[in-house]
Amino acid sequence: MTDRKDQLAHSLARVEERISTACASAGRPREEVTLIVVTKTYPASDVRLLAELGVRHVGENRDQDAAPKAAECSDLPLTWHFVGQLQTNKVRSVVNYAGLVHSIDRDRLVTSLSQAAARTGRETELDCLIQVALDAESGERGARGGVAPDGVAALADEIAAAEGLRPAGLMTVAPLSGPFAGRPRAAFERLMEISTHLRAAHPTANMVSAGMSADLEDAVAAGATHVRVGSAVLGVRPRLG
Ligand SMILES: *Cc1c(COP(=O)(O)O)cnc(C)c1O
Repeated sequence: MTDRKDQLAHSLARVEERISTACASAGRPREEVTLIVVTKTYPASDVRLLAELGVRHVGENRDQDAAPKAAECSDLPLTWHFVGQLQTNKVRSVVNYAGLVHSIDRDRLVTSLSQAAARTGRETELDCLIQVALDAESGERGARGGVAPDGVAALADEIAAAEGLRPAGLMTVAPLSGPFAGRPRAAFERLMEISTHLRAAHPTANMVSAGMSADLEDAVAAGATHVRVGSAVLGVRPRLG
């Protein structure tokens, strides 16, 4: 193995062990949690090595970086998750490679994604996760994107009604401000409550995307189905990406 592949194999094994341990503590089967490796700021060559090591889900947060990387890796059996804040002018590009978008937080994005998905003639509906901002229960979008909890139901209905889109679940990032600041476990438990309400109206919207390198255990304990892990696998990013 190359040095880099060796390094990635080791960090991946450590993350895998953390997920397994967290599942065991929570009394959950390991298969309930899917690892998405967030490869932002790292090159396509790393994505290729990760695929060789068995990774099947990768996440990116900027279309400018993700689009060429996905094109370079189009021969690999990977599902691409778009996890970053999304501008409507990037939507046409994103629907070409993303299987799932985790960051739906406004009507305009639903409309644009639906039009773009229809235009590309995708064979499957685009799985759409609503990003929930837990800084406050209602009001403005969160500083890092996301709709307040009281806006989730309406947005889910819009996604369900939109051609080419399917409501797939919820995503959050542990908030830095508000009542859940510094309390990721409580934040993720709140997300699970919102998920329960959402599933009553849209039973297939059962994905819960929560937890990153620092707090994946809290997310698994709360009930997350998908964790998004970047730096714990690839190393600390040179700059915030
Ligand atoms: C970067 C990023 C991650 C991964 O963060 P790490 O702390 O590197 O694990 C997860 N989710 C989103 C939305 C991100 O932008």
